[in-house]
Amino acid sequence: GKWVYTFGDGKAEGEAGMKNLLGGKGANLAEMSNLGLPVPPGFTITTEVCTWYYDNGKRFPSELDGQAKAALAEMARLTGKVFGDPANPLLVSVRSGARASMPGMMDTVLNLGLNDVTVEAVAKASGDARFAWDSYRRFVTMYSNVVLDVDHGHFEEALEDYKERKGLNLDTDLSAEDWKVLVGKYKDIVKKALGSEFPQDPEAQLWGAVGAVFSSWMNARAIKYRELNSIPAAWGTAVNVQSMVFGNMGDTSATGVAFTRNPSTGENALYGEFLINAQGEDVVAGIRTPQDITEVARKEAGSDKPSMEKAMPEAYAELVRIYGILERHYRDMQDMEFTIQEGKLWMLQTRSGKRTAKAALRIAVELAKEGLITEEEAVGRIEPGALDQLLHPMIDPKAERRILTTGLPASPGAAAGEIVFNSDDAEAAKKAGRKVILVRVETSPEDIHGMHAAEGILTTRGGMTSHAAVVARGMGKPCVSGAGQIRVDYAKGTLTVGATTLKAGDFITIDGAAGQVMLGEIKMQKPELSGEFGTLMGWADKVRRLKVRANAETPDDARTAREFGAEGIGLCRTEHMFFDEDRIQPMREMILAHDDAGRRAALAKLLPMQRQDFVSLFTIMHGLPVTIRLLDPPLHEFLPHGEAEIAAVAKALGVTPEALKHRAAELHEFNPMLGFRGVRLAIAYPEIAEMQARAIFEAAVIAAKETGKPVIPEVMVPLVMGVAEFDLVKARIDAMAKAVIAESGVALTYQVGTMIELPRAALRAEEIARSAEFFSFGTNDLTQTTLGISRDDAGSFLGSYTAKGILANDPFVTIDQEGVGELVKLATERGRKARPDIKLGICGEHGGDPASIGFCESVGLDYVSCSPFRVPIARLAAAQAAL
Ligand code: ADP
Ligand code: MG
Ligand code: MG
Repeated sequence: GKWVYTFGDGKAEGEAGMKNLLGGKGANLAEMSNLGLPVPPGFTITTEVCTWYYDNGKRFPSELDGQAKAALAEMARLTGKVFGDPANPLLVSVRSGARASMPGMMDTVLNLGLNDVTVEAVAKASGDARFAWDSYRRFVTMYSNVVLDVDHGHFEEALEDYKERKGLNLDTDLSAEDWKVLVGKYKDIVKKALGSEFPQDPEAQLWGAVGAVFSSWMNARAIKYRELNSIPAAWGTAVNVQSMVFGNMGDTSATGVAFTRNPSTGENALYGEFLINAQGEDVVAGIRTPQDITEVARKEAGSDKPSMEKAMPEAYAELVRIYGILERHYRDMQDMEFTIQEGKLWMLQTRSGKRTAKAALRIAVELAKEGLITEEEAVGRIEPGALDQLLHPMIDPKAERRILTTGLPASPGAAAGEIVFNSDDAEAAKKAGRKVILVRVETSPEDIHGMHAAEGILTTRGGMTSHAAVVARGMGKPCVSGAGQIRVDYAKGTLTVGATTLKAGDFITIDGAAGQVMLGEIKMQKPELSGEFGTLMGWADKVRRLKVRANAETPDDARTAREFGAEGIGLCRTEHMFFDEDRIQPMREMILAHDDAGRRAALAKLLPMQRQDFVSLFTIMHGLPVTIRLLDPPLHEFLPHGEAEIAAVAKALGVTPEALKHRAAELHEFNPMLGFRGVRLAIAYPEIAEMQARAIFEAAVIAAKETGKPVIPEVMVPLVMGVAEFDLVKARIDAMAKAVIAESGVALTYQVGTMIELPRAALRAEEIARSAEFFSFGTNDLTQTTLGISRDDAGSFLGSYTAKGILANDPFVTIDQEGVGELVKLATERGRKARPDIKLGICGEHGGDPASIGFCESVGLDYVSCSPFRVPIARLAAAQAAL
């Protein structure tokens, strides 16, 4: 087989498209050679060799040696130097390079081929003994560390000792003689550690290094990284062997890294750092402070060290020429590594540069405007999830963070405020115009009003799908969950982390993207929904087919949703409207009522409030569709817990605490998720559904009058398992519509549809669709009921399921296409059979997940609905799905 691909001198056997075989680094070295750029000649040992190596007891294929020798001979022809030659030695670097850049892999070994003999030859040929011995000591250090596994701490110690004894400060202060002495010491260290001499034979050095690269593919760090990033072990890594160029040959030599555009702001300007008389990773290692590349950057940084533009104008001009070529060729921002040897610039690496979300947006939009990429390509360039970073307030990057503790990054954005320990205090503080962070051990539905009032939420228990996390994400509020080092003492009103105790009223700041909890009030930056964001979203909207709606019930959420471009409300969860202070009391009266009449009396109090809720929503949405779901959760969720609260509520309601407890006991369920909820409530207590339907229709009449836009409410029945339940409830809704039309004298158009969130409903979709005018897939519940996994209890085992690959993803984050997705497809087909124009949507967390949105596009749903802050993400993901 062909195991080796050469590059250099304006040509190469490989090219950029061959990343699988040559790894990212090797493929791009080949590509740069093909472009005629100055690349030190070398060759790539393919990823197939790595696979072969592991399949064959860690041996190399027999043809490899010959192919490598031929490639080395070609390098000799091009450089005039011979690998292993005692008088005219060629030195090489050995560099690992997987398909995707992968931390954890072996570090690069530079200056390979040096030994006690060749070092003298290099000294002679270069006329620079210091350079030769500096290179040799670097080689011994690196090789010992990465190939021979000798702790580099020993070498650092020896160097520090030596400097101290000689009164030397910087590495650059050491002379050839100094390095020579140190190389001797280094070799002693190796001998002591290994019991054998440092390898002197260049060929042995080379194969030792190649073997070490392959071995590093299976080291613990690399395995862990692959696991976290789902990279198969079978990919293997390539090895690049490349002739050395030297940035450490004095003051006309240097090494550096540069981005073709600023990776944090996206500004179209060369950005980077370099170091004179240095080699390899010195720039990033922080041994000396690197210098700026451009004058502009130097001035901005206020540095007094000359820029590359000033210090090495010719090499700088060459870099500018090359970066232009690379950017036009790759049509993307590049991250480049280069070395200057005695004034001549050499390219050692290029790849697509990592960038912040903000930079990604600006770069994509500007590349499109420059004509380098199309608008569609720009849309495809932005990772939808990354937009999340941009849509929330952020901590000023220049501000100091005094971190108290960390938890899970449950909901992005940053917030600062006074600590409050309960939701009522949060609400009171908000009314008084103060900003608060709600700190709870965990939250429950009773905390909704406090969460609304707070700037952010911090919990000490619970994971990424805990109540606090899910609700906070829905509200677009920053949340850190599961900060387990915090001890909360509600009675004292304090929280403690180690030796630090804070009390209610003290200021903290949370960063929900980083999971950090910080002391004090830290300066924030507003989200920048600036020009580029708007431009890109506009391009996305041009290509997408799926509509995007929002899950919203409060006027705030509805307004946010519209600002972010929502095209309607896909899910208004009416139960959230009953937790507010003025609602919960009549709600509880209704629950405690002994008969119809009692319930109706309580519902009559709720009606005007509920009607007003819908008037606001309809008015804000201004003619856009609004889907309202009838009451869904079991009634016991509205009853108080805890002795004190029960006593207070009982008093307010004029009943005994015992009566309240008795009713709570009656309503108690072993498994509320599968209990007395959803349509089952409407079946048992039709008066609740009737009140809600009346509120909806009366509100529609009012809002249509006020806005002058027709309002077409969509009434949605949750948790049906078949058409019989649905028909019973629909009859009540239709009757109520008739009544309201008669009373108001206004013609009303409305739709009645259902959620598909039980497997049985999906199976019976054809029948249901004869009655239902739309389906909304409630994939949260559908996932729970299809997989038989309760979302609230999944935390304890789901991790091992995804880790072992039993499930590809957390099915509550990304839709389980094989199971839940199959049901969605089937219900779509069956539903359309009965009603070809049936409107189909999805609500719940999946509606804002880019991978799930791709699935929705493939099934041909009409819209997705997600939390307001995810609307832009969904718009972009929908566009990408349509590309
Ligand atoms: P990484 O993947 O960690 O960036 P590289 O293989 O790119 O590792 O090597 C790191 C650095 O080593 C390069 O940026 C370059 O400065 C230096 N280097 C690698 N090969 C050579 C070479 N042939 N000549 C000079 N310097 C080299
Ligand atoms: Mg590199
Ligand atoms: Mg549901």
